[in-house]
Amino acid sequence: MMRCLRLLRVLPGSVPARRQSTIAGLSFEEHREAFRHKSTWELVRALAVLRLCAVQPLVDNSLQLMRGLERVGGETCLRLLLKRTLYAQFVGGETPDELRECMHKVTNAGMRCMLAATMEEDIGEKGCEAVYRENCRRILGAIDMSAGSPPSPMIQLKLSGLLPARLLVQVGDCYLATDCRQRVVEALGEGLAGKSVQMGPFEKTLTKDDQDALSRAVGRLRSICQAAHQKGVRVLVDAEFTYLNEGLSALALGAAAAFNSSIPVVWNTYQCYLKEADSRVRIELELLMERLGVCFGGKMVRGAYMLQERQRAQRLGLPDPICESYEATSENYDRVMSFLLDRVGPRCQFIAATHNERSIRLIIQRMEAENLDRRFVSFGQLYGMCEQISKPLAECEFSVYKSVPYGTLREVLPYLARRAVENKSVLEGARKEQSLLVKELRTRLRPFGCP
Ligand SMILES: Cc1cc2nc3c(=O)[nH]c(=O)nc-3n(C[C@H](O)[C@H](O)[C@H](O)COP(=O)(O)OP(=O)(O)OC[C@H]3O[C@@H](n4cnc5c(N)ncnc54)[C@H](O)[C@@H]3O)c2cc1C
Repeated sequence: MMRCLRLLRVLPGSVPARRQSTIAGLSFEEHREAFRHKSTWELVRALAVLRLCAVQPLVDNSLQLMRGLERVGGETCLRLLLKRTLYAQFVGGETPDELRECMHKVTNAGMRCMLAATMEEDIGEKGCEAVYRENCRRILGAIDMSAGSPPSPMIQLKLSGLLPARLLVQVGDCYLATDCRQRVVEALGEGLAGKSVQMGPFEKTLTKDDQDALSRAVGRLRSICQAAHQKGVRVLVDAEFTYLNEGLSALALGAAAAFNSSIPVVWNTYQCYLKEADSRVRIELELLMERLGVCFGGKMVRGAYMLQERQRAQRLGLPDPICESYEATSENYDRVMSFLLDRVGPRCQFIAATHNERSIRLIIQRMEAENLDRRFVSFGQLYGMCEQISKPLAECEFSVYKSVPYGTLREVLPYLARRAVENKSVLEGARKEQSLLVKELRTRLRPFGCP
């Protein structure tokens, strides 16, 4: 028993020298290297969490269960159960010290951190100016912590945490309605560059109060982009639900118009489970690079809100915005990647934020065949997921970012619930991770007499 406890505290081994490898040398099957930086306790925890994430009723009701637990047992009970398990698996920390320690571990293992302040709200919950100001302050804190860390630091920005959802939808309507999207982007871009927002394209839709609220939101976004620009940090605007995405795009592109003149500081996110992803990438890239003459940066994901999108479309009698099958989503993803790889360079950069081995291999094959510069294509995975992919990529000297959320236990509950659902959706990756975790645990425990 004592020997086993001692073993659970085994600390990660040293990190081997990095190698610049070819696709042929890249293996996602290696458990020794993938988990070398993890203690045995961390492996046991990862395996238990992955197994729990496969229990359907638990995953489907995870947020209600966590909130129920808090109601019955109080925060202490919640903390006792979650802080060293689910929370520690997927979240960077509650305090700056905890977060620094997490960032240190990730960086030591050869990867980079992409901090993501969790500010998820349940649908129907209302934010207010004080909440938006506090969210802005937290994001500025993330920029400070990321600055000066390994090259090209990135943070994720959930823009819906800076303004009311209703206003975001209205901005999106203006962006879609005006015959020229460019007008809306330029009007927001002026506001983000420090002048006042040109309200022309918004006058018909927004009341005077809404216009004031938009100016305040633009002010918050401006302070974030300015800080990021000064400190060399890239800001990756998250994509969310489709009804918010037009507004998010308008603001993200406005910020790109204001800050991306020499390097891509502000990046938008493209969800390839959407049928329209391919055309959206083409339109936005053309708008930024050709019409406005600024750089393009894109975070390319498959998309995290599939079930809710489908349910909403069905409820409202709208066409389903999601590709008809997983295969169609993957085709979309690979098509968009191919389009971007044709253009990649200092003024057109992207991050493939995926746990999908096939998509990653396709990208690397193209990069090697055409000798594309590795500085302009990065890879991203979620913290706590798929080390068997992130670690070998990092060892082969690709830029690998782990998306590290942070926040207090209560703040991250909706994020943890979403992570549980998502773990289930990353089917292939999670299955493989479980089997590699079992192999690694067997290897470590064998000298102690375990089978
Ligand atoms: C760094 C980082 C940043 C991220 N930022 C965002 C973001 O801003 N916005 C966002 O939405 N997500 C974001 N994600 C989450 C991302 O969308 C999920 O990780 C992703 O959906 C899982 O896909 P995959 O390519 O990793 O894995 P895979 O296992 O290859 O794909 C699973 C995904 O395929 C799609 N899919 C599954 N079944 C079907 C089906 N029947 N029909 C159609 N499509 C299907 C779904 O999108 C599902 O999530 C981010 C992820 C990372 C790593």
